[in-house]
Amino acid sequence: MKPGKPLALSAKSAAAFPEKRCLFSPKAQHRPARLRGNGIVFVPLLSDMITLSDPTGCCGCGACASACPHEAISLREDAEGFLYPHTDADRCTRCGLCEKVCPLLGGPQPARPPLHAYAAHNKSDTQRGQSSSGGIFSLLAEEVTAGGGAVFGARFSRDCRSVCHDYTEVPEGIAPFRGSKYVQSRTGSAFRQVQALLRAGRTVLFTGTPCQVAGLRRFLRKDYPRLFTAECLCHGVPSPKVWRRYVDEIFPAGQEAGGAEGKEELRSVNFRDKGHGWKDYRVVLRSAPSGDPASCRTLIEESHHRNPYMRAFLSNLCLRPSCYACRLKNGRSGSDLTLGDFWGIDRISPALDDDRGCTLLLVNTPRGEALCERIAPRMERTEADLEKAKPYNGGFSESIPVPSRRRSFFLGLETRLPLPRLLRTVETTSHHLLPLKIRLARFFPRLATKYF
Ligand SMILES: Cc1cc2nc3c(=O)[nH]c(=O)nc-3n(C[C@H](O)[C@H](O)[C@H](O)COP(=O)(O)OP(=O)(O)OC[C@H]3O[C@@H](n4cnc5c(N)ncnc54)[C@H](O)[C@@H]3O)c2cc1C
Ligand code: SF4
Ligand code: SF4
Ligand code: SF4
Repeated sequence: MKPGKPLALSAKSAAAFPEKRCLFSPKAQHRPARLRGNGIVFVPLLSDMITLSDPTGCCGCGACASACPHEAISLREDAEGFLYPHTDADRCTRCGLCEKVCPLLGGPQPARPPLHAYAAHNKSDTQRGQSSSGGIFSLLAEEVTAGGGAVFGARFSRDCRSVCHDYTEVPEGIAPFRGSKYVQSRTGSAFRQVQALLRAGRTVLFTGTPCQVAGLRRFLRKDYPRLFTAECLCHGVPSPKVWRRYVDEIFPAGQEAGGAEGKEELRSVNFRDKGHGWKDYRVVLRSAPSGDPASCRTLIEESHHRNPYMRAFLSNLCLRPSCYACRLKNGRSGSDLTLGDFWGIDRISPALDDDRGCTLLLVNTPRGEALCERIAPRMERTEADLEKAKPYNGGFSESIPVPSRRRSFFLGLETRLPLPRLLRTVETTSHHLLPLKIRLARFFPRLATKYF
């Protein structure tokens, strides 16, 4: 390869993500490289420093950055808003640890069928009502914290504009982790915190996407009997940048009204409000004055079919590139448990569906089974036929195809078109005209905002 020339993407990724430039660190671009099947690039002269050329080869789990003993890896957002590792070659000692812990290096993991599949829900109506499906996460988290353990999960930041991993050691601290947040979460220092707690002899429940669970397990590099992991059934994570853009449009940062009680702040986001039932879930955003958090005002309450952010997510337009070629879901992450929505339960076993939420609970390991037995008195569960459930749930599909309009959608994000109008343009414009229309919107923003 000529010095300075960006590395080619793998043939499949090059076709799917033609807009992607090389993610290689600037220094490494000048060295000979070999492209592995998963798009992670080996740089033999530098040896073992992790570098990327193919966006599908990184799920953003952060294991490499957490493992680096010299803090040489930082995770930075790319143009689409997804985090990728960047290596500071001056700090790197080529120890190779980052490569060892990457869950996407080391070849595909074999899929492991679950030991048991259940249709399950929490007996507490309150907890189930606040959860995305049957509220099983809350039972697991209560059980672990009540026994003196720590629970890790994804929660919104204070301003609700991003999602990150955090932990609690008390049952009262579980609430922020409850409910699905359809934004990729930053793992930050969570993996190191899990390790520190386990080394101190504490019990830990780590919850997240399959790739986050796999990343944590690789990062730890040994099995701790006191570690429990529960992954969500995952069809993909949307871009944090798209979420920020959506929130900024409905609730502009820095422009919040300041009244007698203080500035109006975005207080809560519920992607899975069950006010109209579990199946017809709604997206609800609420704000409140900073001085009076109790007096909440509803900003948005929309069915997921109508909400533009959910439409972009559910039509797979804004998922992370690795989600279109996922190698860690469907029993490949090593997670003890898997939690998903039991879509189709109304057809498979109508008697089990009361439209208040049903979890598809997969028990993957004996350790997961032991934890489930501990929460058994507080849940309703019925053994289920997994094969019947799979056709109803997009989370089981091996690889979601990359929508042909994905590229136009992300290019359109750089225009001034508000998200609902961008989405309408992307959804309704003919395949041939769409790139032209997006280009027009970029160069003639006034025209676009008036006529599109
Ligand atoms: C991005 C994403 C995609 C999903 N896709 C599917 C799907 O295709 N099919 C399906 O059946 N189920 C999917 N789920 C899972 C489903 O939405 C519920 O999370 C699951 O049924 C558990 O529900 P619960 O009622 O037991 O607990 P809840 O209280 O609703 O679940 C909370 C759990 O989800 C975790 N979580 C929430 N947001 C995130 C996030 N951004 N990143 C990592 N972990 C998070 C929390 O840490 C906690 O463990 C998805 C979840 C997420 C976060
Ligand atoms: S090779 Fe070692 S020092 Fe270099 S980035 Fe990776 S973990 Fe850090
Ligand atoms: S360890 Fe995780 S963040 Fe780092 S390169 Fe691998 S997949 Fe990406
Ligand atoms: S689809 Fe795969 S790569 Fe994407 S978030 Fe889920 S587990 Fe990670």
